[in-house]
Amino acid sequence: MEIFTEIEPLRAFLNGKRIQQASIGLVPTMGALHKGHLSLIRASKAENSLTVCSIYINPTQFNNSADLEKYPRNVEVDTELLKTEGCDVLFIPPNSEMYAVKDHIKFDFGRLDKVLEGEFRPGHFSGVALVVSKLFNIVQADRAYFGQKDFQQLQIISRLVEELKFPVKLKSVPIERESDGLAMSSRNQRLSVSDRKKAVILFDSLRNSKAKLKSGTAFPEIKQEVIRSFNETVGVKLEYFELADKKNLTLLNNVTSFDQVILLIAAFVGGVRLIDNMLLED
Ligand code: AMP
Repeated sequence: MEIFTEIEPLRAFLNGKRIQQASIGLVPTMGALHKGHLSLIRASKAENSLTVCSIYINPTQFNNSADLEKYPRNVEVDTELLKTEGCDVLFIPPNSEMYAVKDHIKFDFGRLDKVLEGEFRPGHFSGVALVVSKLFNIVQADRAYFGQKDFQQLQIISRLVEELKFPVKLKSVPIERESDGLAMSSRNQRLSVSDRKKAVILFDSLRNSKAKLKSGTAFPEIKQEVIRSFNETVGVKLEYFELADKKNLTLLNNVTSFDQVILLIAAFVGGVRLIDNMLLED
């Protein structure tokens, strides 16, 4: 595996590969890799002759400096995992490389970045769009891989690609879960043993609510039930639990059709903020 920390040598290397007709897959991550990330690497390897994984904890997408500071970092283990997975290139730039000039560009995605994550993490998606734009321009991949775990992020990036005409094909990869259903996340590493057990409340809320929606219970009633179960569990705090149209994330009170809607949730478990979602079509 080739490892780059600087943009220009990476560009030169990839240009050489492009001349040899290589197709390039990009997997952007913030490191502390788990099986969810590795499924993105596998998806890229299956469709491209060369896979580039980036590890970069992007400061501009953190609206909370304590969250940025506490974000898990594990470069040595990540590097070994990527080698074992057969990743071709690791790009792991320092801040001075990604933000050599002060960032002034802000993105506004209209309603899409004001709801759900956007409401609770102001500025988050602007930072995501900025760093993803930089990565797209640096790597110039044919395909870029993102997880459905961050469903709203997928919508934002898809809008970014559409509006700015980035010549890259977006690919989305299903959520990888632990055996009890908890969505894999780098942040799970920060959970204490007892909080790790409690964290399944996000998945349980989604799964139980999905079953109830399918059997005809109205969403407002289901939402009250979820709020109640969070209130009854010590050490967890619900931020949002919503039903939305999966195409534009318009919030809904009722299911329009099962193949068009998604349930989304965010909550603190201990001091750790977790998100998850579930499509109703599956
Ligand atoms: P992160 O390192 O958290 O920024 O995630 C990097 C990429 O991995 C994003 O596209 C995430 O959506 C994706 N990802 C994170 N967790 C999972 C998971 N449990 N299953 C599938 N993809 C994931």
